[in-house]
Amino acid sequence: KERNPGEPEFHQAAEEIIESVKPVLDKNPEYRKHKILERMLEPERIVSFRVTWMDDKGEIQVNRGYRVQMNSAIGPYKGGLRFHPSVYPGILKFLAFEQVFKNALTGLPMGGGKGGSDFDPKGKSENEVMRFCQNFFAELTKHVGHRTDVPAGDIGVGGREIGYMFGMHKKLSNDFTGVLTGKGVGWGGSLMRTEATGYGLVYFAENMLNRLSDSIKGKVCLISGSGNVAQYAIEKILHMGGKPVTASDSSGFIYDEEGITHEKLEFIKDLKNNKRGRIHEYADKYKTAKYTKDTNGASNPLWDIKADCAFPCATQNEVNAKDAQNMVKNGVQLIGEGANMPLTIEAINIVIDNGVLYSPGKASNAGGVATSGIEMMQNYLGSYWPAEEVDHRLQKIMKEIHDTSLIAARHYGFEGNYMVGANIAGFTKVADAMIAQGIV
Ligand code: NDP
Repeated sequence: KERNPGEPEFHQAAEEIIESVKPVLDKNPEYRKHKILERMLEPERIVSFRVTWMDDKGEIQVNRGYRVQMNSAIGPYKGGLRFHPSVYPGILKFLAFEQVFKNALTGLPMGGGKGGSDFDPKGKSENEVMRFCQNFFAELTKHVGHRTDVPAGDIGVGGREIGYMFGMHKKLSNDFTGVLTGKGVGWGGSLMRTEATGYGLVYFAENMLNRLSDSIKGKVCLISGSGNVAQYAIEKILHMGGKPVTASDSSGFIYDEEGITHEKLEFIKDLKNNKRGRIHEYADKYKTAKYTKDTNGASNPLWDIKADCAFPCATQNEVNAKDAQNMVKNGVQLIGEGANMPLTIEAINIVIDNGVLYSPGKASNAGGVATSGIEMMQNYLGSYWPAEEVDHRLQKIMKEIHDTSLIAARHYGFEGNYMVGANIAGFTKVADAMIAQGIV
């Protein structure tokens, strides 16, 4: 903490890993001798730069851009770009650190990184977003490359932004290579990449339930967020016969007791992806739904609705100890993290202690980066794979992450603890590669 002052999110992510891997370090003194944890906690490189752009009024705007290149022991840096006013190095370091373990869990050769800007896309015109993306990538392009560092999307960065950044990269480099993932299908993108994080999350949950001879079918599900991850989690829950009943944005949430149907989901997609509207408009259109404004209270009433499963898909620390207690009280039996670190450490302890099935984001939201890895493979080969093929690989990877996490947990005496298992499995893979590559 003294080494990284003022970065509480990074401390939180680091504490979770340090705690989980203690038994591994005790059993394998090599890791301590090689100072693996200390090395993992220090980014290999952080790039910070100015992004200057002109708004529609002709005024000059100045933002900050970053890329945290955390660890490249098992492959090129890989991880998303986040555009949100809250972005600062502490958030990106936590995300990049998590990404290292997540990418290792996918079984694909990808190191970990994360980047972004404090730019706020909300309320900006199409042209302003384009100018910002172009200026952001005019600098970032110098630090990335298809064998060096391959960014993707995250909060505030979807297909539109990836397109503008890719365009700038191509113009400056005169090179059509897969320097970004999440590209449009038809210019290097993979089918199913858009759906992958949300779908993968629900595949993971299905694996957890199947282990107990149960399934998503018939389960009432709470979802937060209404962006990329939330939309496709809702879609896959519907495919599997579950009943999604909530969605949210940073202003509030809707609760549709009758369930969000395919038709209503199409409304959300159009509202959020094309019209860039607010979730309360759902309740204006569908009278079955009730809208609750974000109260910024001690707990979020979204997590106090009676349900079987909960999928937080918005942002970090959106579920606190009180929310966790409410879920336990209401009989929630499974919590699958779609967002990165949506549960506080206290919330995690409460749900695990009360026997709720809990999957950490680094395991259950890894489907997105896994499919980015599949996009990279297609780009290297210069080919396109059909949606069924990509979906098949995604399902297989989610099952493997599920099983690997369980086996690692069992090996160290934490039967059924997906959090400890995922942390240990990711850690040992990267640690072994670092030892093999010497002191660099
Ligand atoms: P989007 O930008 O598409 O959607 C984010 C959603 O979360 C929006 O509904 C947004 O509301 C809401 N949100 C964002 N910040 C806050 C906040 N501070 N308080 C309340 N609500 C908030 O992002 P994604 O769906 O891509 O990402 C969501 C989460 O999933 C993030 O934690 C991300 O890191 C993680 N993730 C994403 C992956 C991907 O493939 N996209 C892969 C793995 C993890 P509003 O519109 O009002 O801002």
